[in-house]
Amino acid sequence: MLSVSDAEAIILNLVQPLDERRDTEVVDLLTADSRILATPVTSPLDFPHWDNSAMDGYAVRYEDVQHSSAEQPVILEIIEDIPAGYQSKSTIQPGQAARIFTGAVIPAGADTVVMQEKTRRQENRVFILDTPKPQEFVRHKASFYQAGTQLLPAGIKLNSPEIAVLAAAQCPQLSVYRRPRVAIFSTGDELVTVDQPLQAGQIVDSNQYAIAALVKESGAEPLILGIVKDDPAALEKVITHAIAIADIILSSGGVSVGDYDYVDKILESLRAKIHIRAVEMRPGKPLTVATFPSRDAINRVSTNSPLYFGLPGNPAAVLVTFWRFVLPAIKKLSGITEGWEPVFLKVRSHDELRSDGKRETYLWGKLHLIDGIYEFHKAGGSHSSGNLINLAQTNALAVLPMGKTLISPQEQVQVLQLVNE
Ligand code: AMP
Ligand code: MG
Repeated sequence: MLSVSDAEAIILNLVQPLDERRDTEVVDLLTADSRILATPVTSPLDFPHWDNSAMDGYAVRYEDVQHSSAEQPVILEIIEDIPAGYQSKSTIQPGQAARIFTGAVIPAGADTVVMQEKTRRQENRVFILDTPKPQEFVRHKASFYQAGTQLLPAGIKLNSPEIAVLAAAQCPQLSVYRRPRVAIFSTGDELVTVDQPLQAGQIVDSNQYAIAALVKESGAEPLILGIVKDDPAALEKVITHAIAIADIILSSGGVSVGDYDYVDKILESLRAKIHIRAVEMRPGKPLTVATFPSRDAINRVSTNSPLYFGLPGNPAAVLVTFWRFVLPAIKKLSGITEGWEPVFLKVRSHDELRSDGKRETYLWGKLHLIDGIYEFHKAGGSHSSGNLINLAQTNALAVLPMGKTLISPQEQVQVLQLVNE
């Protein structure tokens, strides 16, 4: 059986990112947040666009004020008021200054700004009470960014700072990667939808909802294909359809060793290459990962073969395997050039954590901030892979590596921080 890290490496290696030419769309800046930039952005503008003041104060010639002090202030004549948004008409001559406000253009002749707090005003004269540094409080044209160089690279996620930069650079529309399409279906004769009355022995298909929410959180588009019976013909039909429409296919259930677990058999009959059948982890041992022969890719939404994840049926195992394997795969596929791997933190455990040591074990719980330091609190109740209930309100998974049977309270533990808050 594969270790978790080997499985992770195999999966990330199989992911082919979206194509920077074909798999893009143009969006308005106001709807571009959280999208992945597909084309590098260059601006024809310098930042700042012109020399401007970083303070409310007085624009002066440094030469005039270099020996100024509170005891022996230099007195300058104020020849102009320059609010932000106005261009000065005059040139500052020796002995002169201009009243200036933050962001306003430095007038010709001036090279330094004296902040208002270091001055005293008397009608149209200003007393300079301190010696500024040469060029102090002048934001020089192009000192933050030079026109024509790269402003933002392709492959980054657009968060609020990038959106602000793009607005400042006057980019009202952008080329971003389309959202990855993720087909989702649940397998099992026992499953019913959320609105059907439960008959004896039936189970509500919660996985479909959990996976759809996870997919949306990841920035991808869920394509809901419903519940499929444990019936080879029905499974073959839904998988064939999913191959045609999706970049990633996520099924749950039917990948274990039971008599009604048909997923792997159907994948084989469709000539899929099965790369993973099981992983040494708890929960989440039955996990199928497969790709399809490239000629099945003709007429598909993408020329890449879709990546098939047969997730376990157990609800907790679905969430854990999604966070551990599927989320990094979606991120890599989405066009992000780095940072798709899961983030592990080393934190203190509040509780005793136990495992049988035979498989890498994931225990769910919550990170609490205690005096600014994270502490992991294990969720109360059963950590059986069939128990979904105590996963609610958790935000981290503690990881006990293989062979590790006990982490004592206050001992350090690695946790996978979840982005579901
Ligand atoms: P399986 O791997 O198909 O044998 O499923 C393992 C367990 O997970 C069984 O108890 C199933 O009833 C349960 N299960 C399977 N699919 C779902 C689902 N979509 N929603 C909730 N529970 C499920
Ligand atoms: Mg089943």
